[in-house]
Amino acid sequence: DVRVRFCPSPTGNPHVGLIRTALFNWAFARHHGGTLVFRIEDTDAARDSEESYEQLLDAMRWLGLDWDEGPTAFDVVSGGSGPQGPHGPYRQSQRSEIYADVAARLQEGGFAYPCYCTAEELEVRREAARKAGRPSGYDGKCRELTAEQIAAYEAEGRTHIVRFRMPDEPVTFTDLVRGELTFSPENVSDYGIVRANGAPLYTLVNPVDDALMEITHVLRGEDLLSSTPRQIALYRALAQLGVGNGTTPVFGHLPYVMGEGNKKLSKRDPQASLNLYRERGFLPQGLLNYLALLGWSIAEDRDIFTLDEMIAAFDIADVNANPARFDLKKCEAINATHLRELPLAGFVSACAPWLSAPYAPWAPENFDQAAFEELAPLAQTRLTVLSDITANVDFLFLDEPAEDEASWAKAMKPGAEEVLRTARTKLADADWKAEALKEAVLAAGEEHGLKLGKAQAPVRVAVTGRTVGLPLFESLEVLGRERTLARVDAALA
Ligand code: GLU
Repeated sequence: DVRVRFCPSPTGNPHVGLIRTALFNWAFARHHGGTLVFRIEDTDAARDSEESYEQLLDAMRWLGLDWDEGPTAFDVVSGGSGPQGPHGPYRQSQRSEIYADVAARLQEGGFAYPCYCTAEELEVRREAARKAGRPSGYDGKCRELTAEQIAAYEAEGRTHIVRFRMPDEPVTFTDLVRGELTFSPENVSDYGIVRANGAPLYTLVNPVDDALMEITHVLRGEDLLSSTPRQIALYRALAQLGVGNGTTPVFGHLPYVMGEGNKKLSKRDPQASLNLYRERGFLPQGLLNYLALLGWSIAEDRDIFTLDEMIAAFDIADVNANPARFDLKKCEAINATHLRELPLAGFVSACAPWLSAPYAPWAPENFDQAAFEELAPLAQTRLTVLSDITANVDFLFLDEPAEDEASWAKAMKPGAEEVLRTARTKLADADWKAEALKEAVLAAGEEHGLKLGKAQAPVRVAVTGRTVGLPLFESLEVLGRERTLARVDAALA
């Protein structure tokens, strides 16, 4: 049975790199009919926050990335139900006793040892190793301490960390993305698993929980590749101690995501924040479709797919080891395609948040759902993100059109006023239907030797405040004769 995990640390806002990892684990689990474990790695009290934890749950729910085991049920919105699944608790902050017990057993079994070296001593020796051109990892000084040496250190008042003893042979494993990898012992030294204050480190708790939660596959970012040989050695020790079911998970390291200037996309990059995509009105399926392409593709020359299609096709062996480039334009284009594919009613309801506070600039009582729905089909084919809807329909609900000086200057070139005046006369006499309104403006333009595009620009600015927007004549039809003419008059006054 496939069991994978998504195990973020609740620090800061969720970012797109993290979501890509969640998505690949989810798709892998669903493809294989397996289990997705959602585990919270909150052992760093100084950096973890409850707010960030809530944001993670909320993000997964918004995206529809449902988990099977986790700190709470997927489909419960406000923390009603407790841990879900047989391997809980799923928050590491609630598992301290487990880690203390495993750390003690690792020491009893000789797999780990107390290390009394101080930070200063370590630094001096590291520096010397560097100068001599030797590997600068831990040199093993405390590996074989006798009971007397330990007693002497304790008497000095020294504290100790717990260090895992790396085997003296190379660690080799087959990465699902990168193929066979070998790490030689010189490059992977003994490493800390428990701090001097007794707090267990990520290096311990992550593999311990993978073992106890019977994780079969670890799919995670390439940035964690260097910790994999250490973790594999630790799983083997855990297997010997009978912690967990004794198997070492198979690893697949997902490629780096590069941002602007071909630098790694960092969590601090504004473009990386998931909240940004939510606020701009990406659809979960649009964003996830794009994130899937960061390292994977469903077929050559095919960018658009549904999550069900992704699940059916997802094979970790198809993940590309090369860095993926985050391309916001492409992300937007893919989202636009998903917007167009919504049924109209789905599009209409997806727009709702952007048609009220805090996004909508109009008085709430001015909003008219029927008027919005008349233009919704035209908006649906043109929007990139849902938040664009606000500026596309605000002319219907604001008392006066939005003021945009740049648009005004652009449309009100010399001669514009004259054509606007002529258009006003012709519009006033027109049957109030898009086709007739178009004829009116076309005729006004002809009188001034202007093509339709040039002739309609001042009308558009006078009525909507902007040079770009939904098809003008349909917009005027919905706005109505009286309000349209009043706005043109105001512009001419
Ligand atoms: N909590 C770790 C992180 O967010 C998880 C790493 C892993 O997947 O093993 O970086």
